[in-house]
Amino acid sequence: MVEARDPLVEARKQLRRAIDLLGYPDYIYEVLAEPERVIQVKIPVKTSDGVKVFIGWRSQHNSALGPYKGGVRYHPNVTMNEVIALSMWMTWKNSLAGLPYGGGKGGVRVNPKMLTPRELEELSRRYFEAISDFVGVDLDIPAPDVYTDPQVMAWYFDEYSRIKRGIYPGVVTGKPPELGGLKARIVATGYGVAVAVREAARRLLGGLEGKTVAVQGFGNVGYYTAKYLAEMGAKVVAVSDSRGGIYLPEGLDPDEVLAVKRREGSVIHYPKAKKKVSPMEVLELDVDILVPAAIEGVITEENAGRIKARLIAEGANGPTTTEAERILTERGIIVLPDILVNAGGVIMSHIEWVNNRMGGWITDEEALRKLESKMSENVRYVLSYWEKKLEVDKHPVRDAAYMIAVERVVNAMKLRGWI
Ligand code: NAD
Repeated sequence: MVEARDPLVEARKQLRRAIDLLGYPDYIYEVLAEPERVIQVKIPVKTSDGVKVFIGWRSQHNSALGPYKGGVRYHPNVTMNEVIALSMWMTWKNSLAGLPYGGGKGGVRVNPKMLTPRELEELSRRYFEAISDFVGVDLDIPAPDVYTDPQVMAWYFDEYSRIKRGIYPGVVTGKPPELGGLKARIVATGYGVAVAVREAARRLLGGLEGKTVAVQGFGNVGYYTAKYLAEMGAKVVAVSDSRGGIYLPEGLDPDEVLAVKRREGSVIHYPKAKKKVSPMEVLELDVDILVPAAIEGVITEENAGRIKARLIAEGANGPTTTEAERILTERGIIVLPDILVNAGGVIMSHIEWVNNRMGGWITDEEALRKLESKMSENVRYVLSYWEKKLEVDKHPVRDAAYMIAVERVVNAMKLRGWI
């Protein structure tokens, strides 16, 4: 029987590697391999067929750099170890992004599609009530993740404000715009990926203008990445969704493709496409830049040898396996890691949080400009660190990203006198 991969084992392996590369002693690994706190809660919900009991967690991995920050996912298979691993990744992502946040993550084991809207509201309010003493504007700030959305954040905000007898919009981000959220949140991750690709292409490919791009996945991240890359002068020649992909060598219009997908259910019905490809073939097309923006584990040792792109930007979380990355590095293909390039969402969350705390207002243009300068600066910094401190033909950019992220957290722990 094949053992399901334990994400916490993976997360600890990555931490181990960073600690070894930084030459830190073992106790640093011990300090960071466990979260500071994990809260497990029981959530009984009254439904028309009796009471259903759900289980949920909030993992607070590290708070050296600031309040814990990370989303809450509702999923029938979510486990405590998965939530802990995701909270550790949030520590690195926030640190690398240069945000004054630690890492946290929440999860409730539930299939939200089986609940009525009223039951979903009840579940959301009871979950947040159960963790309300452990979250807060300056303590832990949840946000949407898989199957949670702005409406769920609105219920969290309302429940917390009711319990704490105040109005605290800054306790969650990713809220509806009417409640202090930012409209720009929806485009943030894809826009951030596009900005990161542009910055890296300037440095590594002599510019983005006219470079060909293939994007796997045409959801929130994939569509906005394709749209902004096309606007920035790249030629998006292929996109795909779970049903298949399309290829048009002279470049396609992401907005036209989206209209077709909305109308007919998939990008494969785009009438101008010259060729149809499978969701996996899109990864192997002859392009300059590849953006996997669908699911994890799609670039493996099996297909890494056939990838033709010179630059890969991980819009999705974890699309490249460790073994595949080793092959790509040997072949001189550069992978911009997920914790660097898909941080646009959390950067926008930070802008929302600052705005809520100030009781201020900010336009979408301003918010996107801030995201753009932060992401460009981060990409430049990571690539410089990689070129200066590591042998680039042996180490992927991910090694540099993890070293920077872990080093910042360790320095903060030292300064605060924890270690
Ligand atoms: P989404 O559900 O909006 O879109 C997913 C897309 O992937 C859909 O087009 C779907 O058809 C496609 N897809 C699914 N299975 C596929 C397969 N086997 N082959 C090809 N395409 C497939 O999701 P999203 O929000 O765009 O997230 C995509 C990835 O980005 C996930 O890994 C997510 O964790 C990550 N991510 C998202 C955000 C965000 O703000 N949305 C932030 C950081 C990371």
